[in-house]
Amino acid sequence: MEPGIVIVGAGQAGFQAAASLREGGYHGPLTLVGDETALPYQRPPLSKAYLAGKTDADGLALRPASFFADHRITLHAASPAKAIDREGRRLVLADGTALPFAHLVLATGSRNRPLPVPGADLDGVRQLRGLADADALKAALEGGPRIVVIGAGFIGLEFAAVAAGRGLDVTVVEAAERAMARAVSAETAAFFRTAHEALGVRFAFAAGVTALTGEGGRVRAVALADGRELPADLVVVGIGVLPNADLAAEAGLSVADGVRVDAFLATSDPAISAIGDCARFPSPFAHGLHGDGTVRIESVQNAIDQGRCLAARLTGKPAAYAALPWFWSDQGPHKLQIAGLSAPGDAAVIRGEGSAFSVFRFRDGRLSAVESINRAGDHMIARRLLSAGTPLTPDQAADPALDLKALAMGRG
Ligand code: FAD
Ligand code: NAP
Repeated sequence: MEPGIVIVGAGQAGFQAAASLREGGYHGPLTLVGDETALPYQRPPLSKAYLAGKTDADGLALRPASFFADHRITLHAASPAKAIDREGRRLVLADGTALPFAHLVLATGSRNRPLPVPGADLDGVRQLRGLADADALKAALEGGPRIVVIGAGFIGLEFAAVAAGRGLDVTVVEAAERAMARAVSAETAAFFRTAHEALGVRFAFAAGVTALTGEGGRVRAVALADGRELPADLVVVGIGVLPNADLAAEAGLSVADGVRVDAFLATSDPAISAIGDCARFPSPFAHGLHGDGTVRIESVQNAIDQGRCLAARLTGKPAAYAALPWFWSDQGPHKLQIAGLSAPGDAAVIRGEGSAFSVFRFRDGRLSAVESINRAGDHMIARRLLSAGTPLTPDQAADPALDLKALAMGRG
């Protein structure tokens, strides 16, 4: 068989790369290798509409099966890749199949970080990454359990909002002093804390989990470092992710908290690229952030834009990856949208009030990110300002009379 493009990981980034390759005029063999059974699907609804029973599994699929046949994309589902034979230019699957490639794309995503305490393997301790996890959690909610969520990040808070919305008893335990500590300002975190408390969620901040204790193999409580024991029939662990970079590391590619790629998303082997959650790349938006100017971003926007950027290079239109990072999170009735990349020490300037406001973050006097709470208009303006690098000072941002839209449209 003529070697073509092989993509490992049939998630958001892998699917996008395949679709964009065909759109961009690539006519050669195209293979998408995945280790899940479902057709490539979107994960965001798993902690939102799907968990809440507002959409079903068919509603998650990125495309129907016919799309893959129509676009001559060979989908190897439930086929984990085991090794990369770089010399032979072959991807070896766990079942022994060897797929020759001219170019290999690593789109293996990330996996949940395990909770490093005794009792983490008890029944009733769950995580949320894929469709099977979401189905198990949905079933567990039916029994009306007392719930402890470990981690006040995106997964923990979105899950807590759905569970509390169903009237369940929910406590969120977080190691840091506040929610979403790495991703948002203290102001945004405080708003979401109050919003969750209004739904009935309790919080334990600056709380270290020392053990999960059980009876008959089932979890019964979460033990904290300060001596407290929180009763629990269901524990949901959402303490971040680790990049799936083992295949790359074992093949001798450069790996450091993710597969290292250059601005064109190529790994240290020009025949292999990496995209999505698993890739660490240089970003023009990482200026002044701790580290070496590279980031790894865990979001749908990044997976899609990197899939597109790589497909463009592989179809003869190379461009450095320079898409603005943006995110969203739905928690109860509230929508949080974030444009840009902030650091915990960035200054904060607030526009708006009550339950509709935006926090403009500044690092070294430059706009770094904007967090919009129930202010979708501000989010779109922020994306324009940040993408274009339009100068904005903290004093300007603090002036309610400033027409931000006009500034973003170049009329300011
Ligand atoms: P994935 O979509 O995870 O796909 C990687 C695929 O590769 C997986 O199917 C994995 O099983 C497979 N794989 C790994 N190793 C192998 C192997 N060796 N062989 C074969 N296949 C392999 N982001 C947002 O921007 N907004 C949100 O609201 C949001 N909500 C989320 C809610 C949940 C519950 C979760 C889990 C994530 C959410 N995210 C959200 C994050 C977003 O889904 C991810 O950033 C995005 O899916 C990354 O795409 P990816 O293709 O890199 O990884
Ligand atoms: P996350 O957003 O990184 O949050 C993890 C949280 O858990 C952080 O606040 C972290 O604190 C805390 N934590 C870490 N170790 C802990 C411990 N031992 N005890 C208690 N708290 C601990 O990750 P996540 O919520 O698990 O989400 C997993 C993935 O899904 C991420 O890729 C995320 O981006 C994605 N996701 C995204 C969305 C969205 O964008 N709306 C929604 C759901 C999921 P520190 O930061 O101090 O370590």
